[in-house]
Amino acid sequence: MENNSSNFIKSIIKEDIESGKHKEIITRFPPEPNGYLHIGHAKSIVINFGLADEFNGKTNLRFDDTNPAKEDQEYVDSIKEDVAWLGFEWDGLLYASNYFDEMYERAVLLIKKGKAYVDDLTAEQIREYRGTLTEPGKVSPYRDRSIEENLDLFERMKNGEFENGTKVLRAKIDMSSPNLNLRDPVLYRVAHATHHNTGDKWCIYPMYDFAHPLEDAIEGVTHSICTTEFEDHRPLYNWVVAECEMESKPQQIEFGRLNITNTVMSKRKLKQLVDEGYVDGWDDPRMPTISGLRRKGYTPEAIREFVKETGVSKNAGTADSAMLEHFVREDLKLKAPRTMGILRPLKVVITNYPEGQVEMLDAEINPENPEMGIRQIPFSREIYIEQDDFMENPPKKYFRLFPGNEVRLKHAYFIKCEEVIKDENGNVIELRCTYDPETKSGTGFTGRKVKGTLHWVEATQAIPAEFRLYEPLILDDELNEAAESGEETTFLDHVNKNSLQIIQGFIEPNMKDVKPQDKFQFFRHGYFNVDPKHSTAEKPVFNMIVSLKSSFKL
Ligand code: ATP
Ligand code: MG
Ligand code: MG
Repeated sequence: MENNSSNFIKSIIKEDIESGKHKEIITRFPPEPNGYLHIGHAKSIVINFGLADEFNGKTNLRFDDTNPAKEDQEYVDSIKEDVAWLGFEWDGLLYASNYFDEMYERAVLLIKKGKAYVDDLTAEQIREYRGTLTEPGKVSPYRDRSIEENLDLFERMKNGEFENGTKVLRAKIDMSSPNLNLRDPVLYRVAHATHHNTGDKWCIYPMYDFAHPLEDAIEGVTHSICTTEFEDHRPLYNWVVAECEMESKPQQIEFGRLNITNTVMSKRKLKQLVDEGYVDGWDDPRMPTISGLRRKGYTPEAIREFVKETGVSKNAGTADSAMLEHFVREDLKLKAPRTMGILRPLKVVITNYPEGQVEMLDAEINPENPEMGIRQIPFSREIYIEQDDFMENPPKKYFRLFPGNEVRLKHAYFIKCEEVIKDENGNVIELRCTYDPETKSGTGFTGRKVKGTLHWVEATQAIPAEFRLYEPLILDDELNEAAESGEETTFLDHVNKNSLQIIQGFIEPNMKDVKPQDKFQFFRHGYFNVDPKHSTAEKPVFNMIVSLKSSFKL
């Protein structure tokens, strides 16, 4: 599989440095602060910062904040937090809105050169006049306004004399160009809106296709890396840089977007999930946002490694969500302490264990990383095991507990099931077992063997804990089925109703001081993260990050 060690963007940069075109490269990560970052953005972050690191260049974090209606300081703050958390340091922390004066000046320059005009057509008319791939566009009746009239109208647009939607500034390029982006694209629109950075100073705002190349050129960005949906915009990008007479000439390079199975990946859709209450915020552990993945328990290392493995190419790729899980499992394997937790408790009384006695047992914190040392866990006459580690009438090859069978308790003793206690409805509510003191773990007992090893916690000291188990928010299979059957649905109709399961269980008493974002491997269950939003001093809440095993192979 292609990986980050070599890719076509790297080759371009290498050539540009070797040929002397650039002494130093400058890249940028340019999010619009209209939502939280998702793992697709992580790909762009890793590419931009990674290239600058490799070639001793610089990377700016630049907020592409040219659309005040959708932008917010909350998003700016979250984006800064997420980029830093992913492990990247930006050179400049910049805002496109800081260049509004210069952008305005460059637009005036275009008007003076006869390369831009004020148009009174409505947005709908402009769309109609633009034509299609097979039909040339129609020229606006306002296209031939004099330079003087255009300068006057544009200034009056800036001064707030016109209502939203009544006038735009357009580039004068070519209404019959085969590239629709070159059919006199809109450069500025009127929008009476308060901007999070510039307040009420402006009531005209530049369009992306005009603003973005100017932002890059103003900052001296050498390689402007974006996703392939902008490939057709590249001629316009170059037109703006050239006609605005920008000194620096950035090169736009496109790569394929990252998609992942069983989720949606667009800020617009993610915002819908938040606004309509399908999730408990942008950082809900089911969200593919950086903050959601962090809260679920993903590490920056796991995200970076995953993104690198997806490679850099011209084609958009859909990565298997199992691959993302693979990388967090790999990363946590040596880092996460092992512990035992009971998700669905069943009480076990060990009838031949002395009443009132508690002994402390040694348990390795991480057998794959012995340097992590030993923890101590209590053992006594009453413990909890998992409900599904017992069956009254087991099928063949069931090696866990059933009447008359003996199993090993991890780090403790063999126990044998002697009696099953039920409530009046016939539900099993307790087991009576005996233990064999000879079989204590660590003593080298070899007298006989058992096939099952169960996890457990001592009942009197166990700490109550909440466990949150997750399934994908969207199930691609369901979505595809609906699409094939011709059903008219949106992704919101296919949000997985079982995506969150909350259950109450118990954990080892040595876990009493866990802190938000601490990560553990619960024996036989998987990796879990202490939830920063719902945990309390009395009751920690654990988000399941990933199960222990998967069939996924790299
Ligand atoms: P969305 O459609 O999710 O809102 P966007 O592209 O509009 O994404 P921006 O804030 O403009 O979001 O993105 C900042 C940078 O991240 C851009 O350079 C964009 O190309 C890149 N980016 C966004 N989504 C992806 C993705 N899925 N894969 C790779 N890069 C992405
Ligand atoms: Mg964008
Ligand atoms: Mg977007």
